[in-house]
Amino acid sequence: MNERNTTDTDTNGGSDFLVDMEVDPEVTEAAAEGGQEAETKPIIEARDLSVWYNDEQALENVSMEVRRNKVTALIGPSGCGKSTFMRCINRMNDLIEAARVEGELLFDGRNVYTSDVDPVVLRRRIGMVFQTPNPFPKSIYDNVAYGLRIQNKDDNLDKKVETALKRAALWDEVKDRLDESALDLSGGQQQRLCIARAISVDPEVVLMDEPASALDPIATAEIEDLIAELCTDYTVVIVTHNMQQAARISHNTGVFLTGGKLVEFGPTKKIFQDPDDSRVNDYITGKFG
Ligand code: ADP
Repeated sequence: MNERNTTDTDTNGGSDFLVDMEVDPEVTEAAAEGGQEAETKPIIEARDLSVWYNDEQALENVSMEVRRNKVTALIGPSGCGKSTFMRCINRMNDLIEAARVEGELLFDGRNVYTSDVDPVVLRRRIGMVFQTPNPFPKSIYDNVAYGLRIQNKDDNLDKKVETALKRAALWDEVKDRLDESALDLSGGQQQRLCIARAISVDPEVVLMDEPASALDPIATAEIEDLIAELCTDYTVVIVTHNMQQAARISHNTGVFLTGGKLVEFGPTKKIFQDPDDSRVNDYITGKFG
């Protein structure tokens, strides 16, 4: 989300990818599997979407479709507009005074930027998980129950909390300590708790902005496994600077490059194995960060 935090990791991501492509056939296999089943109905469609922060253009005429019940990865160097694009989907850019949006962002066939769309209601249907785990300073239980309570969906609350924690693959680790502070969990557990909190209210889409970048490799692998499972129930859009991660877990990939341009979008398999745009090839082979 914040390009200041990711400056050098993008370059490393590029070269790590090259190394891993040579030694880890699972990466190409994961990309190949993703590519084979990338087609479902679109749930989100961007049409000529452009964003400015004051006079600085951060996105330029982006058009792409996010497929239902698939994982869509957004990759590219820092500062090229990935987070900005994602924040358009649930109108989080509304909270940034300098931001101005042009073009259309359709969710379920309807432009979210028309005046009759309530962004609060929109965000109930499109949840978000951030780069750094940000549980509330409350108990594990209350973190998951929070959204259900404020949306008056608190009938059968215990069962709903349990279901969300199970879907987030955290239940077994916390079921005997639900009253303990969420802040006492490990970083990886906190991030799975944030995912449980996001999905407790049954959104249709879960946006994830570099959800594993603050985590160690084991916790990262757990989050990746979880994302792969989540797409049976939800549509996932993930920003990642880690190309192995995009190749492993996504079905479709969009590549943003400097100037806020989406230079290529398509099945992950094609993007990583046979991109049309030579700049994409240069990026994924680590020729620039
Ligand atoms: P990425 O997610 O690819 O790193 P961002 O969407 O964060 O890229 O940033 C795209 C451009 O928009 C960058 O030039 C960045 O400095 C600028 N930008 C992002 N957020 C803001 C903001 N809140 N205010 C002003 N400029 C911003």
